[in-house]
Amino acid sequence: MTIMTIPPRPTLLDVQQQDMLIGGKRVPALSGKRFETRNPATGELLATVAQGGAEDVDRAVKAARAAFEGPWRRMKPVERQRIMLRLADLVEAHFEELAMLDTLDLGAPYSRTIMGKARAGALLRYYAGQAMLITGDTIDNNAPGDVISHTLKEPIGVVAAINPWNGPIGMSVWKAGPVLATGCTLVMKPAEQTPLSALRFGDLCMEAGVPEGVINVVTGLGDAGAALSGHPDVDKIAFTGSTGVGEKILHSAAPTMKRVTVELGGKSPNIVFADADLDKAVPAAAMAVFANAGQICSAGTRLFVQSTIHDEFMDRLAAYTRTIRVGDPLDPETQIGPVVSAPQMDKILAFIDSAHKEGAQPLIGGNRMRGAGYDAGYFIEPTIFTGVADEMTIAREEIFGPVLSAFTFDTIEEVLTRANATEFGLGSGVWTRDLATAHRMARGIRAGSVWVNCYQMLDPAVPFGGYKMSGFGRESGPHHIEDYLETKAVWMRLD
Ligand code: NAD
Repeated sequence: MTIMTIPPRPTLLDVQQQDMLIGGKRVPALSGKRFETRNPATGELLATVAQGGAEDVDRAVKAARAAFEGPWRRMKPVERQRIMLRLADLVEAHFEELAMLDTLDLGAPYSRTIMGKARAGALLRYYAGQAMLITGDTIDNNAPGDVISHTLKEPIGVVAAINPWNGPIGMSVWKAGPVLATGCTLVMKPAEQTPLSALRFGDLCMEAGVPEGVINVVTGLGDAGAALSGHPDVDKIAFTGSTGVGEKILHSAAPTMKRVTVELGGKSPNIVFADADLDKAVPAAAMAVFANAGQICSAGTRLFVQSTIHDEFMDRLAAYTRTIRVGDPLDPETQIGPVVSAPQMDKILAFIDSAHKEGAQPLIGGNRMRGAGYDAGYFIEPTIFTGVADEMTIAREEIFGPVLSAFTFDTIEEVLTRANATEFGLGSGVWTRDLATAHRMARGIRAGSVWVNCYQMLDPAVPFGGYKMSGFGRESGPHHIEDYLETKAVWMRLD
């Protein structure tokens, strides 16, 4: 057994004032404004951060445009790849620090944030590989011999990435990968709750040799995101966040026809058939919703259990949930930390309240945690409701907290209809030993990912994204970089 060591406080936090990264330099907001970022486990002030406004967004976009028009887009792919591989090495070498920044900023246990190391390195290495694979086609179809055409793949230009707070460093890396692979440039706005690791990632990009202006990080609130998504000189927006803000992004992108991909919210079904391996399904069903204190877009928040095993399954699930350690994110034994902020906690508690009022049966949890070690933070007990009706608020709306709604079902047809009766379509889980059931479910569920006898698996080579109100576009996978490329057709008459 390896004993996890908790690294020291990151040196970034020795500097109490964190500035943005624009054109390769750390700069304060032109307005001089700052916002605070605090540790949600303790309330401790971590840093005051430059609060970028529209004028800062504008200078970041100008820096990104200048870098795009400079030598960067004419750099050989192999050189871009070399920089990306150096960045992968640096991110891995500094991952303890990056993970600790996220633990302090987001409240996720260090035992969880450190697990992002393998993924961050793999993402950068995957996209570095793709940098060398960008090619057009030759098409000899129209008057063969007399006319030939070919396509050129060109980087789309200045990309705006607007990020949520629930997986900060992973999200920064995921957004930067396709930008660097294709020769685009980036203005990234991390979420105001968790800006620190994105700034440190920006520093590492500089250290890796990414040219100034190629990666810019503008910290700020929603108005900075709005200024970025509406900026006329941004060519593409890669947004990850709530469905409500996603809608606003689409509106603000429309007047200048920006390319947009939106990765939004979810209300994912996790479906357990009576023939499933319950020893595996029980802990997985719990962690599908409680990991990261429920703050995962594809969390399995709607648990459907076949009626013949329902009572046994729920007893075992409650017993397992009692063993989950909630507490200090710096304790290596902790599995779940606080939720990210007081407003997020209040929102989750209001959902729990609605469940009581609408007649769901509380099975376990349901309260803010109190006592020594909890009072200063935003800790909520892992919470399960049974007897949930499909039309209840907690069955329909994304809670983004550690709250599970459990339902019972009889047939495959019934559960497919009910699982799909949601405006979202991001993740889904199916637990069965029957191959035919697995295949029927995989085809029948309307969601971007179906995990069979597992949950929440991700890989840089496998596309991830949503159906319906969970958004459009796929991140990861061989086709992701297409969203960062324009295709130009070139025709040549030969006769
Ligand atoms: P959010 O939508 O409130 O904020 C996301 C980002 O948008 C933040 O940086 C915020 O400052 C910015 N923003 C706010 N108002 C804006 C506006 N008017 N214009 C432009 N930008 C604006 O989301 P959140 O609370 O940070 O994150 C939680 C949400 O993210 C959940 O709904 C979750 O499901 C979703 N999410 C989705 C995925 C996915 O891959 N589908 C992954 C992670 C999180």
